[in-house]
Amino acid sequence: MAKPTVHIVHHIDTEGPMCEPLDELFERIGSILGHPLNLEPNKENLKKLQSPGFVFVDAKTDALLKRIVDPQLLNFKKDREEVEEMLDRIMTPEYRSRFQDSFGQGWVYNWHVLDHVGFEANPRSRILGYGAIFDIYQKRLTDRDSLQWHFHPVHFDRAAHISAISYLNCAYELQQVMCRRLIDHHWFPVVSRAGFHTVRPDSNWWLEQWLPFDASNQAMAGDNTNFKDNIDGRFGDWRGAPDDWSLYHPDWKDWRKKGTMNRTISRCLNMNTRLRNIDSHELTRAFHLAETTGRDVYVGITNHDFREMSVEIEDFYAMLQAVAAQKQNVDFAFSKTVDAFRKCCGFAEGEIQKNKIEFSLHLTDNALKVQLTNGALFGPQPFIALLTNDGRYLTDNFNFGEIGSNAFYYTFDHLTVPLENVKTIAVASNDRYGNTCIQRIDF
Ligand SMILES: [Zn+2]
Repeated sequence: MAKPTVHIVHHIDTEGPMCEPLDELFERIGSILGHPLNLEPNKENLKKLQSPGFVFVDAKTDALLKRIVDPQLLNFKKDREEVEEMLDRIMTPEYRSRFQDSFGQGWVYNWHVLDHVGFEANPRSRILGYGAIFDIYQKRLTDRDSLQWHFHPVHFDRAAHISAISYLNCAYELQQVMCRRLIDHHWFPVVSRAGFHTVRPDSNWWLEQWLPFDASNQAMAGDNTNFKDNIDGRFGDWRGAPDDWSLYHPDWKDWRKKGTMNRTISRCLNMNTRLRNIDSHELTRAFHLAETTGRDVYVGITNHDFREMSVEIEDFYAMLQAVAAQKQNVDFAFSKTVDAFRKCCGFAEGEIQKNKIEFSLHLTDNALKVQLTNGALFGPQPFIALLTNDGRYLTDNFNFGEIGSNAFYYTFDHLTVPLENVKTIAVASNDRYGNTCIQRIDF
């Protein structure tokens, strides 16, 4: 009998370069720990904070501080050149093949690419603009890797370095990213990684319309809420969600509970951050789940492209080898996220191909009809993106055909946009297996 496989799926929150000025860092430390540092933000004082001889407030607080100021965690790629230099190294076949899975295959990257948009303040020198970071990664994409979804809600003050949690507060930017990726890059997302690890009802419902897979669950027994910026479920609240590496469908009222929504959520833990990290114990539990159920298991791991990723990959691989050596009756594979979700959901290859979503576009006068010709949509309607002659990107709801007709309609006129003002129409949808269909009309 074939051995079950633990799929190691590396999800990278792909946000491009970042630098953190020392005054920002010192302020961040104060807010994370709930104690202002009262120290001049300079290099000498940073060295002091990092030194074992210095104890901040008390032993417990100081242990948290030492995690935040760990030199590897502060070693940011400060500009595009530094990020590209890293990518040149870690994306070569030689580098990938330094890591071998049970099938002799090398490392795989799943890039969840962010657009920094909607921002007016940018103290960390992020690369701003629609598609700016996506371009870098789409150019480098090979069959080995995948591009996926990541979105940061925009803060009230429109500052690019501040975390926010509402999709609806920035629906404009959200829809613009979707439209532009579809029209400019011929791309539609399949797998989400929640920005700041944070899902809330609005994003829970929005995702459910389009994306069948979501690698965002960071549930951990005795979750670490020592950091003041994470108390009371602030950011990445996965308390009570499955923490045993099983997949689940969320509830419509509470994303952490098992429910009747259609998308599948996997667990995904951090690589070397200050909380919710993957470790030997967690990896062993994943192998144990595969061993005892005989089924494939999804292990998501995540980090950022603004740190030196090779250090985190190499540390993880050493841990993985040690755990795998103890579990000879389980294989492990470096996997693309969609492949891993399919295997762990138990979808057969024949089923995935036979039911592959297909639809066609028909334009009669000023009315568009989208007719499903094979398979089924993942959500309630396809996604439509329009590019107008004056350069605006628009989206809208469809009109639904008769129940059971599997057809959707859109009328172009003065109540929407007149057809003569439209340059491109693009329509996309996934199915439950993570197949994607994209059709477009260019005028
Ligand atoms: Zn992020």
